[in-house]
Amino acid sequence: MCCQSPEPPAREDSESKGTHKRNLSNGASELSPARRSKRQKATVSLKEQSDSEAEESETEITVAPKKEEKENKPTSKTPQKKSPIKKEAKEDPKPKKARKTKKDQEAEATPLAPRTKGLRMFVGAHVSAAKGVFNSIHNSEQIGGNAFALFLKSQRKWDNPALQDEHRDQFHKLCAEKGYDASKHVLPHGSYLVNLAQSDKAKSKQAYASFLDDLRRCEALGIKLYNFHPGSTNQTPLPEALARLAEMLTQAITETKTVIPVLETMCGHGNTIGGALSEFRDLLALIPTEHHSRIGICIDTCHSFAAGYDLSSPEGFKAFLTEFDELIGIKFLRALHLNDSKAPRGSKRDLHANIGTGFLGLRAFHNVMNEPRFEDLPMVLETPIDRVPVKDEEGSDSESAKPKKGKKPAAATVADPGVWAREIKLLESLIGMDPEGEEFKTLEKKLSEEGRGERERLQDQHERKVEAEEKKKAKGPGKAKGQKSLMDMMKGDGKKD
Ligand SMILES: [Zn+2]
Ligand SMILES: [Zn+2]
Repeated sequence: MCCQSPEPPAREDSESKGTHKRNLSNGASELSPARRSKRQKATVSLKEQSDSEAEESETEITVAPKKEEKENKPTSKTPQKKSPIKKEAKEDPKPKKARKTKKDQEAEATPLAPRTKGLRMFVGAHVSAAKGVFNSIHNSEQIGGNAFALFLKSQRKWDNPALQDEHRDQFHKLCAEKGYDASKHVLPHGSYLVNLAQSDKAKSKQAYASFLDDLRRCEALGIKLYNFHPGSTNQTPLPEALARLAEMLTQAITETKTVIPVLETMCGHGNTIGGALSEFRDLLALIPTEHHSRIGICIDTCHSFAAGYDLSSPEGFKAFLTEFDELIGIKFLRALHLNDSKAPRGSKRDLHANIGTGFLGLRAFHNVMNEPRFEDLPMVLETPIDRVPVKDEEGSDSESAKPKKGKKPAAATVADPGVWAREIKLLESLIGMDPEGEEFKTLEKKLSEEGRGERERLQDQHERKVEAEEKKKAKGPGKAKGQKSLMDMMKGDGKKD
């Protein structure tokens, strides 16, 4: 997921959030990566059985929780002292969703792609767990995922109902039935609200309670790995923030038995912790070694690239892993998030792109898929799958395609998990593929071409930002890290990616 720090987000945060909507649907049957741009017609739609029921989890996934919402939104159980800042109205409205057609509903019974058996690389995606954690298993199966991520509860609310025993039992049953090893290949993603590095006592307590609750849910579900964001310094000195994070983690580990909190590498934007690998080394130094077997790191390819690491060239990729091993230790590597990057290397922008279409390019993922040290780790796609549906052929049931009063129909999007189904197969096909051969070169070129326009747009934004920063430097001492510059605030163009 995005490097969405619990601090006031820059415009790019809202931009990136749109890339992270995820859900499950059906309809796309063309799975050849070479034809991935030829999208299927509007038989593709949402997984959720009814908009109203799935509303909540769908919204969680879709919309960027802004700080004002996150930290000031009052809840029934945890009243805030300050009156909430009513910013919701000003925020981007919830992305409009298209309704599924009858065809969509029928197609739901049919997997988009069969899972590839016998691989040592376990690729999947962050799927919907709407209406119960056990639904994630079906959703992963549908796209041919051999690993998957999910939210264990709403990632936008502090108060959530407890995990139901029935849901827990169903999760265990389906994992066994479908052959998912929950202790290895299921990687829940933590709440966006939680910042364990938080300096505010009350907020810290709240964050810890939510974090611990998630860890306990993992243990109830037989899940060993739990991915979360290292958090934000909130403009306090980094060593102090790391000390707070280390203390929280140590406490959480002592209060649980088996689950391994896995810290995600971040893009290094603003006050976000976890851009530089050295920050994980410094964090680990603050956690008693007896607990080290219960701490993990998840490499997010988009984030680490945006933070400045070269993962594209085989040499750069090798150097990155060497640095990881030297600073942290490869044994701490427990998972990967596989995302291409719309923004250039070092841009510190968290904008996920589809595999092979971004600045990382297909070569980076060839590196990943052929790295023996990644075998048996969960590899999770968080790539964009939203698109505007094409009007249903029969015109029936396809309300999404019909203009509504005062609304532009073009704004309605559907999540098309067929994209993930194709990306999983694409990634798996890279195992053992000759990167100098014609097959790879053709694929690489085609995907690169698909993303060219977007890369040019983001490259241009990046250059303007760098230029503005240099001008500012020339004028006088720059602002402290984390303070938003005018350029920071202006660089987002408001367009959703
Ligand atoms: Zn994330
Ligand atoms: Zn991200």
